[in-house]
Amino acid sequence: MIDQATIQRIFDAAEVAEVVGEFVTLKRRGVNLIGHCPFHNEKTPSFIVSPSKGIYKCFGCGKGGNSVNFIMDHEQLSYVEALKYLAKKYNIEVHEKEETPEMLEKRNERESMLIVSGYAQKYFTRILNEDNEGRSIGLSYLRQRGIREDLIKKFELGYCPDKRDAFTKSAQKQGYRMEYLEKTGLTIKREDWVRDRFAARVIFPIHNIAGRVIAFGGRILKDDKKAAKYLNSPESEIYHKSRVLYGMFQAKREITKHDRCFLVEGYTDVISFHQAGIENVVASSGTALTADQIRLIKRFTNNVTIIYDGDAAGIKASLRGIDLVLEEGLNVKVLLLPDGEDPDSFARSMSSTQLLEYIKQNETDFIKFKTKLLLNNTENDPVTRARVIGDIVRSIATIPEPIVRSVYIKECSGLLDVKEEVLYQEIRKIKQKHSEDVQMKQKREAQRAAQEPAPAISIPAQQIPCQEEEGSFMRLMLKFFNNVMTEEEINEHEVEQVRVRDYIISELEADSLKAFNPVYQRILDESVELSDDENFDCQKHFINHPDPDINQAATNLLAEKYVESARWRNSGSYVEDEEDILDYLVTKAIVEYKMARVKMMEKDIFDKMNKLNPKNDAEELNELLAQMMNLKKIETLLSKELGRRAIM
Ligand SMILES: [Zn+2]
Repeated sequence: MIDQATIQRIFDAAEVAEVVGEFVTLKRRGVNLIGHCPFHNEKTPSFIVSPSKGIYKCFGCGKGGNSVNFIMDHEQLSYVEALKYLAKKYNIEVHEKEETPEMLEKRNERESMLIVSGYAQKYFTRILNEDNEGRSIGLSYLRQRGIREDLIKKFELGYCPDKRDAFTKSAQKQGYRMEYLEKTGLTIKREDWVRDRFAARVIFPIHNIAGRVIAFGGRILKDDKKAAKYLNSPESEIYHKSRVLYGMFQAKREITKHDRCFLVEGYTDVISFHQAGIENVVASSGTALTADQIRLIKRFTNNVTIIYDGDAAGIKASLRGIDLVLEEGLNVKVLLLPDGEDPDSFARSMSSTQLLEYIKQNETDFIKFKTKLLLNNTENDPVTRARVIGDIVRSIATIPEPIVRSVYIKECSGLLDVKEEVLYQEIRKIKQKHSEDVQMKQKREAQRAAQEPAPAISIPAQQIPCQEEEGSFMRLMLKFFNNVMTEEEINEHEVEQVRVRDYIISELEADSLKAFNPVYQRILDESVELSDDENFDCQKHFINHPDPDINQAATNLLAEKYVESARWRNSGSYVEDEEDILDYLVTKAIVEYKMARVKMMEKDIFDKMNKLNPKNDAEELNELLAQMMNLKKIETLLSKELGRRAIM
């Protein structure tokens, strides 16, 4: 839906170091930048960004690609969504064709659901601000709660009229289809009636991390005992409750900036914190915290402060959340608000400085928090003490980092007056039990797998024959496509420049060789097609290719750590620029590739010969033998060529 020229402008603007740098702290190392990979947990950085190539690559987990790939992966967006995200960042206007209902129909379901949700948000917001009912009921409620105008706007709050199906009718009139109104849960449809799910409710839109509306929360204002106070959109193709944190879109920049995230419970808690000037805050919206939600936070920071209401009832149930956070390797602090306060009321009762100061004074680590909470005036009861110690030790055991664990053990030992050795022993027991459980599970799975038919065998990438040889000339081709590698004398007065691309393509054609890796072959075919274009930038073209197979292959080829072989580096005390020895490198790569292909053919023939019977298949055997002799001749020639190259 985005035209090619716009895509090109987005790629040109989205400088990889800048795009990645928004999420990862990068340090300069030589011509590259290096940092901790945001996609896997690592202690020593192995995540490289190459501004000159326009790529990033992690040598730990293997993730890599261009700026758009990074946004797709990091922000969990589709290709088009990622392009739009970057367009927004760089103020590039995206021209999309006007949507008619017919075109809408053709778009994929997800996109349609997002569009319908976007429409609903605008409708609800308009009703809140412009409609009589919206203003007198919805807006006056928000004002009465002290929510400022700018925050109503920032969180795109709205109101759904108290009329059976006013929203649904309006949406249908605009051409939005019932199918998507139903799938997003905005409309509830039965055989003989239709109604708006959120009728008579104040609306809190829930955004994905890129800022698009994916669901809604609605708070009822009428005094209706039967109706739930808060109602949420149902799970759908675009809304997975367990993977979303309310307010993440509005908070992510501040979370990165402060390297810290506050976790509260509800919509209004988040908004009140913003109102108090603290914007690095998200909510789990009523559901128990999930591992996916914690990983979402972890993409932006390792430091979480969980803020609990003053009433103790809900707290014990939420304690499990702490263990989950610890398990993911985050540093967790806990803040218990004074009795009777919730984050919403508390944030509204003080200034931002006061609030921050209060948090600073009162947040504790989880051990102090649990101890205080669980002991709860029964400090001298040995049974309770033992239970509390057991509980805290279980929490400590979930922490993946040994050094962090030992710090907590020390603290726990002091606080509960237990010897550190005893605690270590307990933790060993828990870990032992845990690893036994894991082994048992694996064993059971292995047994089950043994009873099932074996899955179809696919060749792992490393086993593609001559993968290394193919990769090495492909890399040179991508990198030095238009470079002149040598000059050939045509006659006394004329020399012809031989470019890397011409050499490689003609060498392969001369021997009718197709690359084994089908993605490489597609790159080769496309290169031939485009090579006449003066402005064709081979490296950029394939790194920014819309086909993920192709851009991944290009990234992997260009991100190779070793540009020259180890032997080359060891034998000479100097390393020349690749560009200066292209003639040597490219011809060597092609000869080695051909050699590898010849060896493969020889092996093929050898295998065939082994299967034949010397008596009955004499003729066939002779034929194969002749082929083999031929290949051996070629092999000798290639070896000589290689030898000659090596001496150079
Ligand atoms: Zn990684």
